[in-house]
Amino acid sequence: MRERNYIDGKWIASADGATYDHHNPADLTQVTGTWPKSTVGDAKSAIQAAGKAFESWRRLTVYQRAEYLRKALSLMRERIDRIAEVITAENGKTLTESGAEIASAIKEMDYQINEGIRLGGRIMPSEREGVLAYSIRVPLGVVAVISPWNFPFNVPSRKITPALITGNTCILKPAGLTPGVGAEFVTLFDDAGLPRGVLNFLTGSGAVIGQALVENPAIKAITFTGSTEVGMGIHKAAADNLTRTQLEMGGKNPLVILADADLEKAADAAVLAAYACAGQWCTSTSRAVVEEKVHDDFVALLLERVGKITVGKGTAPQTTMGPVCGKSQLTGILACIQKGKDQGAKLIVGGRQTKDNALGKGCFIEPTIFTDVTAEMMIAQEEIFGPVLSVIKATDFDQAVEIANGVTFGLSSSVYTNDLQKALTFVERTDVGLTHVNIPTAFKEPQLSFGGVKRSGCGLPEAGDTGVEFFTEHKVAYLKYR
Ligand code: NDP
Repeated sequence: MRERNYIDGKWIASADGATYDHHNPADLTQVTGTWPKSTVGDAKSAIQAAGKAFESWRRLTVYQRAEYLRKALSLMRERIDRIAEVITAENGKTLTESGAEIASAIKEMDYQINEGIRLGGRIMPSEREGVLAYSIRVPLGVVAVISPWNFPFNVPSRKITPALITGNTCILKPAGLTPGVGAEFVTLFDDAGLPRGVLNFLTGSGAVIGQALVENPAIKAITFTGSTEVGMGIHKAAADNLTRTQLEMGGKNPLVILADADLEKAADAAVLAAYACAGQWCTSTSRAVVEEKVHDDFVALLLERVGKITVGKGTAPQTTMGPVCGKSQLTGILACIQKGKDQGAKLIVGGRQTKDNALGKGCFIEPTIFTDVTAEMMIAQEEIFGPVLSVIKATDFDQAVEIANGVTFGLSSSVYTNDLQKALTFVERTDVGLTHVNIPTAFKEPQLSFGGVKRSGCGLPEAGDTGVEFFTEHKVAYLKYR
């Protein structure tokens, strides 16, 4: 692995040579790599390189740009196994989950390349004789891409593909916990022969280089995925330069189970979306809001399924749930579990760090369920971002919707019911960016936008047609030809 920054087409160390070690979350004694702790000066060099490259990259036809992206995409297809190993080593998720993340990136990248190619302007009838009135799309310039560790491959890919295909140049700042995955992504483009400076890559602290990128007026757009707290700080800093932002942030996603639902399917959906990637999906189900008539039956089905989860290293074939991504995640999640107990929720399974079977050196947590959770408890309100499901009783449909909406987040939701009227009413009333009926909260497809409302999202969402829309301006022209 190239443990370097990538600036102006070259893999280089940080200007002052400082580095940091990355540790495998499945065994913290294992160093997976030593990466540049980049400086503000490195960020400036990357901005300069991207700025210089912009002038020629934007002048290529979209078909020429697509050729480079398609070459990178084809290398991505060839390197699935290798990239999956790096994701698992840095993030902890199972190899199967890592493979699924890359498969999803492939689908989305393919879709976004084509979306960029068919992105057109508009011709409108003019009110004057002999005038052609039309609009075209133009790229913005240098884009800062700030990504999280939970989908360290798919998120950069989802952001960078639409940015590049529409003629922008990029600087990727990956999460400090997943530098190697970011480097694997950038290597695809390097190997595809992308012109120098079009895509740059800096590792190190978000508070230092992330902040330096965000505050720099040469950055014309910031696409960020991460916590609400950091996203809000970015939004404020960007306002000073009128920089466009796309913020995809936290969630507290409810799965509503109504009395008439297929409870087996609802329990499958809850367990899938609460514990996949150890509960570290932004669209994870973190609250099950259950009509009280079926509460006990539903909880019994949950327990049955959770009992079948095998916690272990992501590289072991029998593992169905890997570690959480690092020491501070581990500590934070255990603190939330303690808070749940202190506030009177009933811990019915899990709740501890898993230390058996030689897992003691890693960040493993048992899949956890709380019942008797009330809507105002911290575990019902705050994003835990770990394998913890809070079950909340609702007296009826109306109260279930009220509880589901009663948080500051608004990313994803789902309802399980066979009552069409209630299903459609739920879709109408749920305060989120994406919702589901009889489908888990985590489900998404590339042809539709992906983003949240309230404190979960701000700016045009990613993916679908808004993916490319975000990275372009509309330029309007009036042309007198007669
Ligand atoms: P953080 O907000 O801590 O970090 C996200 C990125 O921002 C990292 O690259 C980080 O760098 C960087 N960063 C940190 N501080 C600054 C700063 N001051 N200026 C600029 N950049 C900065 O989130 P996590 O990495 O912990 O990711 C988990 C969060 O992401 C969860 O809340 C989750 O819900 C959310 N998420 C949302 C998704 C969505 O689409 N809505 C999808 C996936 C995750 P560094 O790592 O070096 O600190």
